[in-house]
Amino acid sequence: MTSTARLMDGRELARRIVEQAAERAAALTRQTGTSPCLATVLVGDDPASATYVRMKRARCEKAGIRSRHLALPAATTTAELVDTITALSHDPDVHGILLQHPAGPHIDERAAFEAIAPEKDVDGVTCHSFAAMSFGLDGFASCTPGGILRLLDHYDVDLAGKHAVVVGRSAILGRPVGMLLLGRNATVTYCHSRTTDLASITKDADVLVAAVGRPRFLRDEHIKPGAVVIDAGSHPGNIGDVDFDSACTRASLITPVPGGVGPMTIATLLTQTVDAAAAQLKAV
Ligand code: NAP
Repeated sequence: MTSTARLMDGRELARRIVEQAAERAAALTRQTGTSPCLATVLVGDDPASATYVRMKRARCEKAGIRSRHLALPAATTTAELVDTITALSHDPDVHGILLQHPAGPHIDERAAFEAIAPEKDVDGVTCHSFAAMSFGLDGFASCTPGGILRLLDHYDVDLAGKHAVVVGRSAILGRPVGMLLLGRNATVTYCHSRTTDLASITKDADVLVAAVGRPRFLRDEHIKPGAVVIDAGSHPGNIGDVDFDSACTRASLITPVPGGVGPMTIATLLTQTVDAAAAQLKAV
């Protein structure tokens, strides 16, 4: 079958968003004498997590956002991590805090996330941020979901009244993206590992979000012809949660991996860090 899908270019859109964030960071620095600062916290030595944090810090630096990195040993306890994050929450020179997920199996990650002050929660991981986002109130969006919405908006995807199916219900991705889609008046269905007859549900999706964490899990047979397919997955070898080639035979719009959702996540993080700094430094 031939491919009918148009690509959603997250890389190019993210480049423009980061450029705007950099301009705002520079203006804020001129105005206040202080540049925005993101604190990154990494527990342990997982190479993938270390790479993600390095990438995020490098992008910050390019955009004129300072980063302060705290690398904590794998043996760090939940109490120690909470203390570290609480100190960052109280530090006036830190405007945003990012705790790299996963923090490790022995860590109560929820407790650690909740130590982030809501006004510094630029990664949108606290209960406060989730509730604000779900109620359509001011607050920081979870970065990957926020990036996905920006991408959908950029490609003029009309969500009102559309059936959006989210495969995955994690706290950082599946659940919040469903809430954002609901906020745009989509009719949202969540699928997860206990969902029965997944394909019968996904095949009815006008907008299908793959947030399942399994390589090439969703393919043509899961996709309604003409659907918009968002692949949030990220696996070694530039593989997503969607089988890209077969999905392209059905989708009208699709995000590639890499160059789709990934760059949008970082762009949202940088934008929200500048927003946080502007609010804390009482500037615009
Ligand atoms: P996660 O915490 O492992 O959650 C996966 C979700 O998929 C769970 O809700 C799980 O259901 C569901 N699931 C697992 N097997 C399933 C099956 N056979 N059928 C239906 N649902 C199933 O993963 P995550 O952190 O949300 O990440 C998801 C993907 O996004 C991963 O590939 C990750 O690498 C990627 N990601 C990308 C970015 C980015 O910036 N691009 C950011 C974050 C994550 P249960 O709840 O029932 O277990």
